[in-house]
Amino acid sequence: MKLYCALCGRPMDQAAVLIGSHPVGPKCAQRAGLMALAKRKSGLVLPAMRWKIVKVQYPQTADLFDGVSA
Ligand SMILES: [Zn+2]
Repeated sequence: MKLYCALCGRPMDQAAVLIGSHPVGPKCAQRAGLMALAKRKSGLVLPAMRWKIVKVQYPQTADLFDGVSA
């Protein structure tokens, strides 16, 4: 799925913030001061970085594998 910046209409790989459901690129978001708004988490401007954070590492996993191999 291709993302297009809601402010300048240019294609981008990763949105920096969302205005409602409209993605905005990092350059436009910074220029328009949207990064500060997104951090405040009020209103329609939301940070979009959470899309990147998928992996959660559990320290217990290493112990589990040690037990299996022994
Ligand atoms: Zn833009």
